[in-house]
Amino acid sequence: MANNLEKLKQVLVKEGLRFTCQREEVWKEILSSNEHRDADEIYHSLRKKAVSVSRATVYRTIDVLVKNNMVRKLDVGIGPNKFEHKMGIKHHDHIICMKCGKIEEFVVNQIEKLQKKVAEEYGFKLGRHNLQLFGICKDCQ
Ligand SMILES: [Zn+2]
Ligand SMILES: [Zn+2]
Repeated sequence: MANNLEKLKQVLVKEGLRFTCQREEVWKEILSSNEHRDADEIYHSLRKKAVSVSRATVYRTIDVLVKNNMVRKLDVGIGPNKFEHKMGIKHHDHIICMKCGKIEEFVVNQIEKLQKKVAEEYGFKLGRHNLQLFGICKDCQ
């Protein structure tokens, strides 16, 4: 947690933004859950905990965290983007239901290897990747 807080401070400095307890609360709130939540859900969760923070601050802070690779943004196709933090989280990919927006996480070693291979074939050294599959979940079929 201390390290994660340090990270936030560094990033805010880099972005020319002030470190405020509101921004700290937003970051803590994101870190407190492994769910995929949209910005409004994060905002409402903060309000429920009686943290006084504006919607604009929540949105702006999330943008900065995404930009600095601390939070992953998932474009789920329907509804707003979802977010999850990336601190100490093992790499995973996502499969998303196009009807209800349900998100499942998966890792398939063969796919991971294949992506590296594809990158190499194109003369790239793979940094990171973002794989999202879209379909219709069991409940929605
Ligand atoms: Zn569904
Ligand atoms: Zn995830």
